[in-house]
Amino acid sequence: MKIHEYQAKEILRKYGVATPRGFPCFSVEEAVEAAQELGGKVWVVKAQIHAGGRGKGGGVKLAKSIDEVRRCAGQILGMQLKTHQTGPEGQKVRRLLVEEGADIKKELYAGVVVDRGSQRVVLMASSEGGMDIEEVAARTPEKIHKAAVDPMAGLTDHDAEDIARKIGIPDKAVAQARDFLKGLYNAFDETDASLAEINPLILTGNDKVLALDAKMNFDDNALFRHPAITAMRDLDEEDPAEIEASKYDLSYISLDGDIGCLVNGAGLAMATMDIIKLYGGNPANFLDVGGGASTEKVTEAFKIMLRNPQLKAILVNIFGGIMKCDVIAEGVVSAAREVHLKVPLVVRLEGTNVDLGKKILAESGLPIISGSNMADAAQKVVAAAKGSN
Ligand code: ADP
Ligand code: MG
Repeated sequence: MKIHEYQAKEILRKYGVATPRGFPCFSVEEAVEAAQELGGKVWVVKAQIHAGGRGKGGGVKLAKSIDEVRRCAGQILGMQLKTHQTGPEGQKVRRLLVEEGADIKKELYAGVVVDRGSQRVVLMASSEGGMDIEEVAARTPEKIHKAAVDPMAGLTDHDAEDIARKIGIPDKAVAQARDFLKGLYNAFDETDASLAEINPLILTGNDKVLALDAKMNFDDNALFRHPAITAMRDLDEEDPAEIEASKYDLSYISLDGDIGCLVNGAGLAMATMDIIKLYGGNPANFLDVGGGASTEKVTEAFKIMLRNPQLKAILVNIFGGIMKCDVIAEGVVSAAREVHLKVPLVVRLEGTNVDLGKKILAESGLPIISGSNMADAAQKVVAAAKGSN
């Protein structure tokens, strides 16, 4: 799960990570009030969407008067903000963060990530902040410094100070940077985050370390332990089809192709997308209905796939192990009837009670195309999708 910058900053402050003062706002009036409450002479009005690169897209603006705050808030609220992470259609801005303008001497980078290679949580930092860290890693990998964290010891003073020095924190700010980095690690660890990234982390004119941006992602499987974080979920930022699927405990991810896939098991779902690609097609989604899919679940899965206007054909690929093929066949038939399926449907069944399953499909009277194996089914669905162009 992702959260907004202002929410990440709220969490990080609790762990001693310094940030500018600021308030979330949902209207221009609130933005003006926030600026008045903050005082000072410079404010930054920031679009809150679940995507980075807002600055370049016009979603982060500096204001030097209250009138300017009002103007910037008016421009940003409601805009369709396009960044390299939103896709070409952009994301509508519904929330702002108004915060005090910081005196930036240098922009740096710090992030805590799970490094699958070393099987450790790793603190990653760089003297090159404010830009895409992927670019820094590609062009000047020597400018990225890493410390793998021992889960029992946590981030040590030694490692935190060492990293701080390596990214050019001056001596007098090293102690504060150490506490900042340790706070960042502790926040990541205690909230079951999968990412905690500060880009940029800045050094101010008087050598203070401050988090100007903050991004935190969380492991969905651990959210049950964090009700306060779960409450931060913003459904406006999520794909409506994925939200609907999560209600029925379906693992669904929207993709940009035109062939819907309904599969049981994540591994088989991945293999199904691969084989569709292999035969020249493009999957419209990843969908794992799980081991115990009921007729109701299969029907909902069909409905979710059919919401997609791009959809040209559907491939159902089921291996009946725990789940029996006849049960799935019943589900497919009843779902196809209920949703008045208009796109071609290819079904490949294998496993327990497969003959009974095939019989149910054949006798349903529905124009279901049967695939004898995965390759056959994939070729048939790719042809069907092209045919209905
Ligand atoms: P994004 O990464 O989505 O573009 P950031 O929060 O990193 O958004 O903001 C982009 C840039 O705007 C920063 O690199 C920084 O230069 C500037 N900026 C952001 N917040 C502040 C602030 N409070 N004071 C001064 N400048 C800021
Ligand atoms: Mg940033």
